Amino acid sequence: MALVRERRQVNLRLPELSDRRPRFPLPLPPASTSTSTSTSTSAISCNDIEKIHVIGHGNGGTVYKVRHKRSSQIYALKVVHGDSDPLVRRQIYREIEILRRTDSPYIVQCHGSYEKPSGDIVIVMEYMELGTLDSLLQKYGTFDEPKLSHVARQVLSGLSYLHGQKIIHRDIKPSNLLVNKDMKVKIADFGVSKIMQRTLDACNSYVGTCAYMSPERFDPDTYGGNYDGYAGDIWSLGLTLLELYLGHFPFLPPGQRPDWATLMCAICFGDPPSLPDGASEEFRDFIQCCLQKESSKRWTTSQLLSHPFVCKDPSSDLVNL
Ligand code: ATP
Ligand code: MG
Repeated sequence: MALVRERRQVNLRLPELSDRRPRFPLPLPPASTSTSTSTSTSAISCNDIEKIHVIGHGNGGTVYKVRHKRSSQIYALKVVHGDSDPLVRRQIYREIEILRRTDSPYIVQCHGSYEKPSGDIVIVMEYMELGTLDSLLQKYGTFDEPKLSHVARQVLSGLSYLHGQKIIHRDIKPSNLLVNKDMKVKIADFGVSKIMQRTLDACNSYVGTCAYMSPERFDPDTYGGNYDGYAGDIWSLGLTLLELYLGHFPFLPPGQRPDWATLMCAICFGDPPSLPDGASEEFRDFIQCCLQKESSKRWTTSQLLSHPFVCKDPSSDLVNL
């Protein structure tokens, strides 16, 4: 499993393509911001918080479990250090901008953000006790269909909310979906998301993790350049569910270390992956609706929310992940 994790983190990213070409201006703070108060959007001051331990390290930042001293409430604190790459800083400003705009039980909640005098940028978030779907997969093994139906329903509800707000996540994958102690699944990590300013905004920049990118985003030249970014999130959701079912990245055999060319061939020139024998017809059909190579044939969030795979058994919301 350690190998699998390393593969995902090291080899499935294309930093030279994915991270260095932001395509729209980011909400950078005013140049004069030098104190925590001047950029704070937080009801929670950094002086009110004590660190408990590190939860994880992301692309340029560290996430801590923290306690609010007066209320004893637990939060997650994401910190991007002052001396980090400008691109990483832009990504966290983008994440703050989006978290400020969102208010949904299916999106991880932001309780504030601020910039410290040191230049560190901090986001206080709700703490998701069980961690990511990726870590649950590694710890407890593959997900059965009732669990995946539960995951699909919640992630689709989150995507439906985001798409309704004209926000495209662009990085849906198991490690960006968090689970709390009540088994609620929430979408996190908006560092490469995009707010569509106009209905026909193009959305074809290479950002996010390329392994979960739809064919039209991976290879925009072949697929016509301008495309529907919302459908890209649906592709990534289909791939995510399939990975949780199979226990490995669906386009490649278990353990294979992919490079960019392998992924490009598999995603753009191969057939979409499908489920092995033994999966139900409903699940098979649901995955097919997500993993249509032609983006216009992919179902929307509202169509998928009424698919039998997610609406046949709402009691599975009580399922233990
Ligand atoms: P990348 O930068 O490649 O997206 P990442 O998603 O792992 O990496 P972060 O979003 O910075 O990076 O998160 C790092 C880790 O911290 C996550 O993998 C997750 O385990 C944990 N984490 C993040 N946010 C929370 C949260 N709100 N509650 C609990 N754990 C969290
Ligand atoms: Mg992440």
